[in-house]
Amino acid sequence: MKNLYIYTNNTEKSLAAAENIEKALNAKGIRVCSEFVPETEMIVVIGGDGAFLNALKHCAYPSVPVLGVNTGHLGFFQELSPEDVDKLVSFCCTGDYAIQPCKLLEVDMQKGDESVKAYALNDICLRDVGGSIIRLRIEVGNNFVETLYGDGMIVASSAGSTAYNYSLRGAIVDPRLEALQLTAMAPINNTIYRSFASSLLFPPSLDIRVSLLDKENLEIGVFADGRKMYTGDFDLMRVSLSDRIVNVVRGSDYDFWSKVESKLL
Ligand code: NAP
Repeated sequence: MKNLYIYTNNTEKSLAAAENIEKALNAKGIRVCSEFVPETEMIVVIGGDGAFLNALKHCAYPSVPVLGVNTGHLGFFQELSPEDVDKLVSFCCTGDYAIQPCKLLEVDMQKGDESVKAYALNDICLRDVGGSIIRLRIEVGNNFVETLYGDGMIVASSAGSTAYNYSLRGAIVDPRLEALQLTAMAPINNTIYRSFASSLLFPPSLDIRVSLLDKENLEIGVFADGRKMYTGDFDLMRVSLSDRIVNVVRGSDYDFWSKVESKLL
């Protein structure tokens, strides 16, 4: 490997780790670029999952391997710690690491003739930022599934199932299982309103289509990996699993369920 890009969350700890890593890489003849360029062969992200998600967006969801170094955050996507410099250098020099391929979610917001698109690794969230109840018509493929009443909903990828989805009591899904998970936020169930009380899992070939049943007095916000990508009403929101893949670098001994156990229990 000749060219590598380091992205950090700019904290003191992350900047110090970046300096250390850069020195060690330079000593092996690997150049650290100050920006993501077409020659970049690997991205090293120093920070937590938030930095990891920011780096992907910053680099327009690249296909080169992305290696996370955790500087004191939860670090679900982060594989190494700042002390693992030798391991990092060995990954770069020998290519002896595993890749966890993660398909990205794609969201397409349509209003009239306009459409706005975004990608996400974890999830797409739709909610009313003004605090009102939302009434949503949910279709999957071309079939009606339910009318959802509540604070909003998220669609999570399997890799993102341990994030917001899990806080909303959604299921943790092994990322080797490709699926779209729809989880309602505080769904109402009474004699007037009735929505599914559990998360719904759909195969990757189907898209989830969402429309607003009531547009009055709503302040809709749509978030891709927690970053606002759309505000206001819309005619159709379409969420699907895209063909674009982010390649997360893992050690050869990586095991998803050990990570879940160590981070969430
Ligand atoms: P943030 O609000 O600063 O952090 C949310 C937390 O989620 C952080 O602890 C982050 O880890 C962790 N996280 C991110 N991706 C994860 C994953 N795949 N599995 C397990 N935990 C994960 O925002 P952020 O760090 O930029 O992350 C954006 C994500 O926050 C969104 O995609 C959404 O899933 C999540 N979120 C969660 C809630 C909630 O649980 N109530 C509310 C809003 C958004 P680090 O500490 O390593 O950064």
